[in-house]
Amino acid sequence: MYRPWTSEAIRKIESDFHRSADTHLVRLDFPVFPDIQLYLKDESTHPTGSLKHRLARSLFLFGLCNGWINQDTTIIEASSGSTAISEAYFARMLGLPFIAVMPRSTSSAKICQIETYGGQCHFVDNSSQVYTEAQQLAKLHNGHYMDQFTFAERATDWRGNNNIAETIYQQMQAETYPVPSWLVVGAGTGGTSATLGRYIRYRNFNSYLCVVDPENSVFYDYYHQRDLSLTGKTGSAIEGIGRPRVEPSFMPDVVDRMIRVPDAASFAAMRFLEKISGRKYGASSGTNLYGTFQLAADMHRAGQKGSIVTLACDAGERYSDTYYNKAWLSAKGYNIQPYLDQLQRFYDTGQWES
Ligand SMILES: *Cc1c(COP(=O)(O)O)cnc(C)c1O
Repeated sequence: MYRPWTSEAIRKIESDFHRSADTHLVRLDFPVFPDIQLYLKDESTHPTGSLKHRLARSLFLFGLCNGWINQDTTIIEASSGSTAISEAYFARMLGLPFIAVMPRSTSSAKICQIETYGGQCHFVDNSSQVYTEAQQLAKLHNGHYMDQFTFAERATDWRGNNNIAETIYQQMQAETYPVPSWLVVGAGTGGTSATLGRYIRYRNFNSYLCVVDPENSVFYDYYHQRDLSLTGKTGSAIEGIGRPRVEPSFMPDVVDRMIRVPDAASFAAMRFLEKISGRKYGASSGTNLYGTFQLAADMHRAGQKGSIVTLACDAGERYSDTYYNKAWLSAKGYNIQPYLDQLQRFYDTGQWES
């Protein structure tokens, strides 16, 4: 049977992929331990500004190939913002209406970008309400709830097909330590950590996977207790990572270590990352850097040499009113100075004092 709309939709998504270049793997300046090298996979340079460009592409292809999306489908998503931006972009490409269900606290720059792509924003007061609200809206509009938190881990081709893990290992090939000792990521859907962890096993790499988790997220406790019913009352302050429930796409058994990172430490590390990379990234990239420094300190203490790869998930411009705004930080009661001092001391002397 010939399906002209579906085949054209898939062709459009594939063309977007062919127009795009790979994202850079940047070597971070880290002189204090010459035998430990740090790398940042800069996912902010995708056309829609974050690693969610990969996920949105995969979710649309998955929905199209499953027969869930056709020319009359309204697309609905529950999101903390980044996924909704990328999905709004693909929905517009296919000429489909798009509604994002998001916490009211979502940064205004993200809301603006969703609307620029023709998407509609629908707000809830608490981030734990996004799921049922999205389900209800899908029913009301006879639409399709993309459900990134369920499908992220399976919509991505974990064995390769240029997924984020495959490209990291390819880009590391000519480095002094081409197989990273550690990969460090946060978990929102958990899809990225699932892809990395599976790929490490599939290709039999001698790498460990560390997931960094912010305050008000249940992933850290779930990892240690394996209690699926854990819930949190407040949403994560770090947009993109940390969830108030155990998301189905989070795969704990491929994770080798979890590190809990205080929110103020993430904000401080985000600023410190700007200092050493020359670029502004979002707070989840700060969470990643904070965990990466801790692992570098551990490796040094154990006399190990090697490399650590982490991600810059999105750019800082989305957060100029919030994370990069000193008045916002103090109004929320965050004191980032002790963490800035800790990071600077580590960078200068190699001493990690917690
Ligand atoms: C989604 C997201 C992450 C985490 O990625 P997952 O694959 O969903 O776990 C990290 N940072 C930002 C900014 C994100 O939007």
